[in-house]
Amino acid sequence: DRCCREVGARERTYTHSQRGRLGETRTNLKIIKKINQAIEKKTPFYSFEYFPPKTPDGLSNLYDRIARMGEWHPIFVDITWGAGGSTAGLSFDIAKTIQNLTGLETMMHLTCLGMGREEMVQVLATTRQKGIQNILALRGDPPRDRSPETVDEFRYAIELVRFIRELHGDFFGICVAAYPEGHSKDNSYEQELSFLKEKVDAGADFIVTQLVFDVDIFLRFLDDCRHVGIDCPILPGLMPIHNYRSFSQISRFAASIPKAIVEQVERLKDDDQSIKDYGVEVLSQMVRRLYDEGVPGVHFYTLNLEQVVTRTLQCLHVNTEKQPRALPWERSASARREGEDVRPIFWSNRPKSYLARTMDWDEFPNGRWGDSRSPAFGEPSDYYLARPQVAPASASHEAELRTEKDVFEIFTRFCLGVVRALPWFEGSLALESDLIRSHLVSLNRHGFLTLNSQPMVNGAPSDDAVFGWGGSGGYVYQKAYVEFFVSGRRIEALLEALKTRPSMTYQAIDAQNHSFTNCSQVNAVTWGVFPGREIIQPTVVDPVSFQVWKDEAFSYWLRPWAEQYPEQSEARMLLQHIHDNYFLVNIVENDFVKGDLWGFCEQLVAQMGASD
Ligand code: FAD
Repeated sequence: DRCCREVGARERTYTHSQRGRLGETRTNLKIIKKINQAIEKKTPFYSFEYFPPKTPDGLSNLYDRIARMGEWHPIFVDITWGAGGSTAGLSFDIAKTIQNLTGLETMMHLTCLGMGREEMVQVLATTRQKGIQNILALRGDPPRDRSPETVDEFRYAIELVRFIRELHGDFFGICVAAYPEGHSKDNSYEQELSFLKEKVDAGADFIVTQLVFDVDIFLRFLDDCRHVGIDCPILPGLMPIHNYRSFSQISRFAASIPKAIVEQVERLKDDDQSIKDYGVEVLSQMVRRLYDEGVPGVHFYTLNLEQVVTRTLQCLHVNTEKQPRALPWERSASARREGEDVRPIFWSNRPKSYLARTMDWDEFPNGRWGDSRSPAFGEPSDYYLARPQVAPASASHEAELRTEKDVFEIFTRFCLGVVRALPWFEGSLALESDLIRSHLVSLNRHGFLTLNSQPMVNGAPSDDAVFGWGGSGGYVYQKAYVEFFVSGRRIEALLEALKTRPSMTYQAIDAQNHSFTNCSQVNAVTWGVFPGREIIQPTVVDPVSFQVWKDEAFSYWLRPWAEQYPEQSEARMLLQHIHDNYFLVNIVENDFVKGDLWGFCEQLVAQMGASD
């Protein structure tokens, strides 16, 4: 309890002109906008640093962790760069994946020592091309075996900052490093402050410091920076105490660790849990004090570990509520996608897959994917964040797959939240599915295996907790929608039933491209009406992208699902059979006022459910 007081309980002292300075140049950069908004709203913020792991398992764990920690809405996440570019490929890949496939603003560290200008031109071009928009520009440390005759094309970080600005203008958000306790014995504290000021004047937008354990030292440094005219945001780097070993290693980098902390860690050194608890206590006290002193945000060196940081944020009662949605789907942090305002509904449960398949697009179709100028979809990718998941065969009743009914049961249990992963879903069902969950359960239980759905909405306030998007003051609308796999044996009866519902449009297709439809138009299924604006229609059913989605959707029966089972096994043959013989069907109820898609679904279940 000693550490669990809400942040901001005391009126904070920072103002725009004090410790929590706004970024005053390049205010159009996304990262600066976010930092400035948080400072203006007096919302304490934080960022998370990660390093590239050494093994593939480590990498997949890291992605899971970043996704989980992303729920805490860090203002940005950053990825380190191995000395001399030793992790370059991995740093690029991780930064690219996070920046493009999530809404998390991402920054990549980049060191310049040992690199030539030509090489740096390439590296910056690749950075930009990969959609990475923020760079922590560093000098890096010289290798131990470096010859004294070496001539460096980049000697200091300031030269990298200048180089980036010269080549790329204001495209990149640039952060630089600072050392509250000094960096080199060759220069005085005052000289280092003046070098730091030059670095900022050369084009850096904000600063992250070397790790700090003594808040007083950081605050003195911050005031000194302000005094010499360093005006940009300065985030103190904080190192959680996770365990004795990492603390002992890391403490070499921080000159001053309060004696009380060192002694307490020594006392607890054989008790991992107590060290962690103590780590939470120390970190919470530091963060709270910093926020109270007017420091608007902090930077966590996570060391790729989660617990101490997230427990600290819990302790501080940091608000993790989701921000109101700007659109029904979550925007990517990639600058390339700023103009994107419409997506096909099909990937709404696989948004990262959609992002990965469209990552290289320069332009985003405004609703017409069939246009000859529209870009081609990439192949379903191997990006970890977009990889289809399935509960392991051995860990569930799925091992018992013998009949189609067993598969129906798995889909039903997914709807009920019992089965946790199916390849067509990156997460669990959306909140709005609660309203139609009983219909979905009934459909799945009877062999209409639902992948996607939305209820009808006729003018809900745009700030509605479940359906709202786009801010307040408007109204949002949805046509009821359902998409499912169904056995080819039922397709004729289904098409007959659909004939009795003229307000419904549908598409049905199987893996061999036998298809049926009564609509070849793009059909808006979500739209919003806002004061003084054109109607916004961010989600559509589009026949061309349905063809693309259909291939992806069918492929998941085989990979990753069927391939979990031995060749010739009953389960594998069953999943192959479904892949070969089922249809993927989508139905839109276009009457968003009086339509009754769910009544129609119940009718299907009653008519056909019993027949198998
Ligand atoms: P600089 O700003 O160039 O400063 C280096 C030294 O030169 C300082 O002592 C400075 O006072 C002095 N100096 C600056 N300008 C002049 C001048 N004109 N004349 C004389 N002296 C001058 N390293 C990695 O390899 N990978 C990483 O991902 C990484 N991430 C980091 C993140 C943070 C937040 C921090 C604080 C450090 C990080 N480092 C990383 C370590 C960093 O590369 C080293 O500390 C490096 O020695 C200094 O880098 P710098 O960018 O601060 O250098």
